[in-house]
Amino acid sequence: MDSADIRNRFLKFFEKNGHTIVPSASLIADDPTLLLVPAGMVPFKPYFLGEQTPPWKRATSVQKCVRTPDIDEVGKTTRHATFFQMAGNFSFGDYFKAGAIPLAWELLTSSVADGGYGFDGDRLWVTVYQDDDEAIDIWHKSVGVPLERIQRRGLADNYWHMGVPGPGGPCSEIYFDRGPEYGKEGGPVADEDRYLEVWNLVFMQSELSEVRTKVDFDIHGDLPAKNIDTGMGCERMAAILQGVENIYEIDTTRKILDRATELTGVKYGQDERKDVSLRVIADHSRTAAMLIGDGVTPGNEGRGYVLRRIMRRVTRNMRILGGPETNMRELIDATIAAMAPQYPELLTEASRIHAVAEAEEAAFLRTLRAGTTILDTAVAETKKAGSTKLSGEQAFTLHDTYGFPIDLTLEMAAEQGIEVDREAFTRLMAEQRARGKADAKAKKTGHVDVSVYRDALAAAGSPVDFLGYTEVVSEA
Ligand code: ATP
Ligand code: MG
Ligand code: MG
Ligand code: MG
Repeated sequence: MDSADIRNRFLKFFEKNGHTIVPSASLIADDPTLLLVPAGMVPFKPYFLGEQTPPWKRATSVQKCVRTPDIDEVGKTTRHATFFQMAGNFSFGDYFKAGAIPLAWELLTSSVADGGYGFDGDRLWVTVYQDDDEAIDIWHKSVGVPLERIQRRGLADNYWHMGVPGPGGPCSEIYFDRGPEYGKEGGPVADEDRYLEVWNLVFMQSELSEVRTKVDFDIHGDLPAKNIDTGMGCERMAAILQGVENIYEIDTTRKILDRATELTGVKYGQDERKDVSLRVIADHSRTAAMLIGDGVTPGNEGRGYVLRRIMRRVTRNMRILGGPETNMRELIDATIAAMAPQYPELLTEASRIHAVAEAEEAAFLRTLRAGTTILDTAVAETKKAGSTKLSGEQAFTLHDTYGFPIDLTLEMAAEQGIEVDREAFTRLMAEQRARGKADAKAKKTGHVDVSVYRDALAAAGSPVDFLGYTEVVSEA
């Protein structure tokens, strides 16, 4: 079943069940608390909060999503992409748990000929929020899932919120058992590689006033109505239904990955480290094209920095694999070809996407040329001195003189098995700032320290990324 089919089946099934099909919103969130859209519910948030009256009681969509916090998982787990498509059905004060649970089950388990995904129900497991007996009853008594395959979990796994004030609620998740070759038995609680999370049903009923961490937040009160918000990962479904190992090998992304193997001459499936690089290249090329398609341009702040960082990782991984110096044109071409059947606007925007991507590639190659030799020398000196830690001074020089952001230094040093003395780096940055303040004539570097920026952002109540984004969102 190809990706387009997976997506269409979802929309058709919910349309048949009284939902209005709503097109995906742009990845650029129309929401000051977010940089990019991380979930299908974002465009509907004002309806959940009761700020606006929804034009329909039931809606369904396949929303383009980007989750920057998952960036370090990409290529290493089987299931985390930076760009992915979340299929969802939504009820605005209409049906609740007793409606949402049987609908999800029906779509997953009804036959392919009947418009479903044809799953064997015996391979599906579910989790519920620890005290949600009502959900357990529906799964067990109405749907018939045996109690052994229903597991209770706490706040960290089965309470969903946006990571910022807004709607939230307990959730129930559906997992597919990929089989013993993928890990140990015992359900999702025991192993999330073997049991692959495919669908999350959120029972949106509360308004969160403050969110400190994933598990530490204040509930302001009940939402005006009890709502349903679900999210099914189209790429994870594709991996299962296409019988491939991971989401980077599905019909769409695989085409980009294959292009990267042609460009580098590296065969896929022979060396795990190289495979991770190939998967990162495929995933990130796709994310970059989708972000530029929606109007994001590379920059040193916010979503522009997310794009820049993602593109830089493509270029660096292509270099690591011995690819040609420039490759953005070919990778973007492959991405557009792979994604255009679902997003035809990529074709009309192709020349703009190419222009932005290739200009950024050229700029980064200049930075890399200047800084890589310095970094390699520093790493060699560090190793020669019998240390595993690059000094804060060296990281600072790379940042200050060569425009190497600290995360690039961290990543490139890590590739050679070296850590970076971040504490010293942060101290040097702070000292530089202090000097800058003391001396009005001090040269303005334009570089901003991570921690300070984060604090400033928080103080200003400025946009942050989704769900505990501990990474730098903006850094020169
Ligand atoms: P995981 O625990 O695997 O990281 P999650 O619990 O963070 O997933 P949700 O926030 O519940 O994910 O999102 C709803 C659905 O979206 C998931 O069940 C999954 O199918 C899909 N999804 C979430 N994150 C990703 C990702 N990074 N790449 C691809 N699909 C994803
Ligand atoms: Mg996650
Ligand atoms: Mg999860
Ligand atoms: Mg989940």
